[in-house]
Amino acid sequence: MQSPRAIYMDYSATTGVHPDVLAAMMPYLGPEFGNPNSIHSMGVAARQAVEDARARVARVLGCRPSEIVFTGCATESINLAIKGIVRAQGRTGHVITSAIEHHAVLHSVEQLEREGYEATVVPVSSEGIVDPDDVRRALRPDTRLISIMYANNQIGTIQPIAEIGRIGREAGVPVHTDAVQAARSESLDAEELHVSSLALSGHKFHAPKGVGILYLRESTPLEPQQVGGGQEGGRRSGTENVPYIVGIATALERAAGMREEYRRHTSRLRDEIFEGLLRELPDVRINGSRERRLPNNVHVSFRGIEAQALLMGLDMRGICAASDSACQQAALQASHVLQAIGVPEDYLYGSLRLTLGDDSTEEDVQYLLDCLPELVRRLQALSPAAV
Ligand code: PLP
Repeated sequence: MQSPRAIYMDYSATTGVHPDVLAAMMPYLGPEFGNPNSIHSMGVAARQAVEDARARVARVLGCRPSEIVFTGCATESINLAIKGIVRAQGRTGHVITSAIEHHAVLHSVEQLEREGYEATVVPVSSEGIVDPDDVRRALRPDTRLISIMYANNQIGTIQPIAEIGRIGREAGVPVHTDAVQAARSESLDAEELHVSSLALSGHKFHAPKGVGILYLRESTPLEPQQVGGGQEGGRRSGTENVPYIVGIATALERAAGMREEYRRHTSRLRDEIFEGLLRELPDVRINGSRERRLPNNVHVSFRGIEAQALLMGLDMRGICAASDSACQQAALQASHVLQAIGVPEDYLYGSLRLTLGDDSTEEDVQYLLDCLPELVRRLQALSPAAV
């Protein structure tokens, strides 16, 4: 049971830069170092690279190039969208979001609440899905924004964004979606999704860390957060990160071009893991919907064990995985997502997220299934809470 190499099963945390992406970036890290805002020939070449990248991203999103804003990460895109769209409509009002959003969304909404705005946090079902009717019912005459994520970063559930987008459109309320985890496998067509705003992060699809995208539908109100030289149409000032912008466009095109292949490859391995775990560990709990779920996401909980011990045990066996409970100041904190879907107390701290990617193999899965059940049984035997 020897691991031949480090087995990476944490592709939802981050991915490596693809060689084609790096190759496309290299000239702009080297000789083509012009500032896109300069008027000389080197500046013009850099500007062309940025505008070409913007047009390529716009093609994937089915929108106009002018509706694309390049940012430093998805956290920035989300902060800009949520606070920028709400504040641009006045100093009071109401926002709708869900209980299972990433903290970039939840903390942005909380910041608005501290400024006097009001928020409704809609629940999710025990499968981790938002009911569009809950969103409809939460609408108020002063609702400024609906922000619901496309796919959850922990349990991988996919939300009915097009339906929620339509509800917002009919009510005249902009809809923002955090599409960070959906980028590899789901359609990002802004028109089909009826959204006004959508955030993406390069490092989730083989571009470098530190570059993001914000799609912002034309005429959506926006108060910029970062002011200065007026770049990105005045929506995000700061000299454009040319190599990273070229990188994210190349990576997004690549991801869009191989969506079906990615879905087929990762979902087959994901289902093998689910079946293997259910066979070996009858009391394993699968978190989130089996059907409306990212093709590369396995999220399970084991009774009576602590995720940290499990992750360390897997790491010692050469497997890189994740959980969702953060250990802060020696106190175990349960995941807000698992609490929102009603995971019972004895399963709350023993969760495991395995996320697959292009390079995941059948052998990786077999090795995991050789190690994991035995490790779980051993930890459960040591834990009084498991019996
Ligand atoms: N939203 C979701 C759903 C995520 O999974 C992440 C990253 O883990 C982010 C937002 C933040 O992305 P970034 O690392 O680009 O700030």
